[in-house]
Amino acid sequence: MKPFAYQAPTSLREAAALLGQPDLRVRAMAGGTDLLVQLRAGRFDLDLIVDIKGIEETNRLSYDPVEGLTIGAAVPCCLIYEDRQVQNLYPAIVDSASLIGGVAVQGRATIGGNVCNAAPSGDSLPTLMVLGARCRIFGLQGERLIGIEQFFTGPGTNVLGPGELLVSLQVPPPVPNSGARYLRFIPRNEMDIAVAGVGARVDLSDDLQKIISARIALGAVSPTPILIGEAGDTLIGQVPNEEIFSKASAIAQEAARPITDMRGTVAYRRHLVEVLVKRALMDAVDRARSFGKGKIKEVETHGR
Ligand SMILES: Cc1cc2nc3c(=O)[nH]c(=O)nc-3n(C[C@H](O)[C@H](O)[C@H](O)COP(=O)(O)OP(=O)(O)OC[C@H]3O[C@@H](n4cnc5c(N)ncnc54)[C@H](O)[C@@H]3O)c2cc1C
Repeated sequence: MKPFAYQAPTSLREAAALLGQPDLRVRAMAGGTDLLVQLRAGRFDLDLIVDIKGIEETNRLSYDPVEGLTIGAAVPCCLIYEDRQVQNLYPAIVDSASLIGGVAVQGRATIGGNVCNAAPSGDSLPTLMVLGARCRIFGLQGERLIGIEQFFTGPGTNVLGPGELLVSLQVPPPVPNSGARYLRFIPRNEMDIAVAGVGARVDLSDDLQKIISARIALGAVSPTPILIGEAGDTLIGQVPNEEIFSKASAIAQEAARPITDMRGTVAYRRHLVEVLVKRALMDAVDRARSFGKGKIKEVETHGR
């Protein structure tokens, strides 16, 4: 590993200026659990690392009933899944954050880094997609807010330009009678990357009998994580049951573009998509039914 300089700015403007320096190989760092491993493996060399953990805006983790959840790009996974409001209102985020690495990794790794690393298998990505998260991006030209499904441009690449950094992820407030779930398959219990991952979200009618909206997103089975609109739309107006979930999972299977590698073949990954979509939908419905309006009210009234 070649020597590199290290800077830890305390403002977004300073960070953007450092990241935007022409002729320097420079990258932002949050927890470093991808960046430092990749550097050490010789995937690339850098002249400068810009540590974003000293910036106030990247350390925010807060919930507002109108704005929803703000997850600062430097907030480690352990603080996210230990947060009472995240546990109560966004259990699918807990699913994802508690799957990334093991306990030691979760003390450093961030969801922001998971997003910026843009691996197709990133465990937070399908969840953020089904929850409708947006990325708050800062650059010297100003700020922009984009939907997470527009953020990824290929395996390991994203829309961030020179001098831009991710500030936070903005997740809309949950709606009543809504539930979401993230499931992945790995060949062992932890410390491996997903062979296939599925995020599912279901919004139920007031009587909890019919699906009024659904979203399904896949990870690790295409060059970027993907939201399969048609799979979710086929569930609208339906009574949740195995038959209709099979229909949605068949559409998702068709949309997947998996590859064969050491973790699994194309056929194996397609099979996993079928199984995981059905299971994630069933769990999302269970969560929607037990969540209801009461929980949102309770959290809003009593806070953390
Ligand atoms: C042992 C081990 C196990 C792992 N297991 C899993 C797993 O199960 N699931 C999984 O999804 N991942 C896993 N990972 C990968 C990694 O831990 C996650 O992707 C993690 O979420 C990355 O977060 P980070 O804060 O460490 O990112 P960093 O390493 O700091 O950054 C990752 C990339 O994003 C860029 N970046 C970071 N923050 C910003 C920002 N604010 N603005 C612009 N660019 C930014 C960096 O330049 C870098 O390219 C594992 C890693 C290890 C070492």
